[in-house]
Amino acid sequence: MKNLFHILFFVSISCLAFGQIKCGTNLLWEIESAQNPELIQKRMEMEEAISSFIKRRNSVNTEYTIPVVFHILYNQSQEQISNAQVLSQLQVLNDDFTRNNADANNTPSSFSSIAADTKINFCLAKRDPQNDTTSGITYTNTEVTSFSLYDIRVFSDSLGGKDIWDPSKYLNIYVCNLTNALGFSSFPGGNSFKDGVVIDYQNFGTNGTVNPPYNLGRTATHEVGHWFNLFHIWGNGNCSSDMVDDTPTQETENYGCIVHPSPSCTNNGDMFQNYMDYSNDDCMNLFTEGQKERMHATINTERTEIANSYACSLPFEDIGIIENIFPSENQIVCGSDLNITTSVFNFSNNNISRLNLYYSVDSQPFQQFVWNGDLLANSSQEILIGNEFLTPGVHQLTIYTDLPNGFRDLNPSNDTINIEFEIKDGNEINLAIQSDNYGEEISWQITDEVGEIQFEENNISSNQENTFQLCLDNDICYTLTIFDQENDGICCDFGNGYVQVNNQYFSGEYNDELQLDLCQIVSVENIDLNNIKVFPNPSLGTVYIQSNNIVNSISVYNIQGKLLKTHSPNSSDININLESLEKGLYLLQLNTNKGSSIKKIILK
Ligand SMILES: [Zn+2]
Repeated sequence: MKNLFHILFFVSISCLAFGQIKCGTNLLWEIESAQNPELIQKRMEMEEAISSFIKRRNSVNTEYTIPVVFHILYNQSQEQISNAQVLSQLQVLNDDFTRNNADANNTPSSFSSIAADTKINFCLAKRDPQNDTTSGITYTNTEVTSFSLYDIRVFSDSLGGKDIWDPSKYLNIYVCNLTNALGFSSFPGGNSFKDGVVIDYQNFGTNGTVNPPYNLGRTATHEVGHWFNLFHIWGNGNCSSDMVDDTPTQETENYGCIVHPSPSCTNNGDMFQNYMDYSNDDCMNLFTEGQKERMHATINTERTEIANSYACSLPFEDIGIIENIFPSENQIVCGSDLNITTSVFNFSNNNISRLNLYYSVDSQPFQQFVWNGDLLANSSQEILIGNEFLTPGVHQLTIYTDLPNGFRDLNPSNDTINIEFEIKDGNEINLAIQSDNYGEEISWQITDEVGEIQFEENNISSNQENTFQLCLDNDICYTLTIFDQENDGICCDFGNGYVQVNNQYFSGEYNDELQLDLCQIVSVENIDLNNIKVFPNPSLGTVYIQSNNIVNSISVYNIQGKLLKTHSPNSSDININLESLEKGLYLLQLNTNKGSSIKKIILK
């Protein structure tokens, strides 16, 4: 780290003598950090993160693709460079960064072993920040006749430039009439409104308006190197470090095209062929493995979103909410603790990896939840988005989705859901009554400990499962009574009805009424993870068993715990004949691959 300040504060006075300096990046950084000393602290932290990442060395084989947008600013017609010239620059970036450059074999043999395919690729953006399709090239006719070094007008529509596109999603490369420098770039960690690369139109690409000796697109290769946090190879000081281990320490920058080897400091030859030196374009031909590591470390610490940006795919994101899982529309929720869970659906043909969700209860300010994951095309995902404690009563909940993959949703019509639900005190009881052919004869009521009716219902539909959701006070033992006006119950002469309270089943075979002590039922219901149904109960002998899981064996015990009978059915939907047993209470132990459950059964 000791050389860092030297790197950052050495002003390249010698460059300024050229009138148009080759690169303004370092000088820009010095000016900005002098104005804003916090940037220096940020730089120190950045270097620590990079060095720590490089020590772990877990990314060298990862391939990255960086979305690029080119902004062409022109005042004179010749500055309105062609698409072909822009594409020639994109080709150079891809060739140079992946070591597919035609002049790779000009790298001296002493450096060829450390010459790197950086595995960084560049693609042309196919959509703009508004999520409309784009060619990846913008043209802006400006009244500004020329831009100077560090000219912030470049980055602003209102000042004669072009507003930068979110640099966390795009590498912005500006091309304009830039005086007094071939180009400049921002390092990572600076202000995002000007976090891009600027190149003079006469040193850009390989055709059109390009002039030798900077006519092979290497100015942009060099500046994009800075954008990925590479320093000049000579470290901006006499024999200083560029914070990369495998580049030779060299005294200063090289211009033109000198002859290898050209030793300086203690090296055996400057690496003037490196893109981060100042040589002519046709003398440059490599990045090193160390520079590759530093750029990968930067992508993984400072530019973490850019490689996962979807900017090079056509706009596709359509995510919607198909239902709210909890609470659902008109649901009665027992208790005040609400884990709001919604279900989003990816209507797109591509994956969605991040999403913002917002919810508001009773028009309170919206709460944000950021989801990250991998939601496949045409798939849904349940997401817990927040927790609320609410008072009893009716409440409204609004949930909406926003910015799938960081972009505007193409179809906002399915993004929002509004539901109403009710909070009640107490614990949840789910009552189901499967009626026989005469549902109209059936009614039920729940009474408290002093016999006062708390809930009742007379309207039972025939031949179907009638379900009721209730919240009952945990401290009170309630009694559920099912009545039949005709004294024939709901089983089994005119249909096979039953009564279910939570996971417990009871036979519908009764006369005028069936009375159940909810206190006991509710206290045992939660232990049945297999969701096993044993019915009818009481039984005349044949007991039917339904389970979510395969029942491997059934053991029948009397209430003294004596094993009377075993049965190995290996099925989830079975029956067992207990006609040989006397009337009375028995215990069925049902073993499944998910564990065992014990059920009481009454034989009569
Ligand atoms: Zn530079």
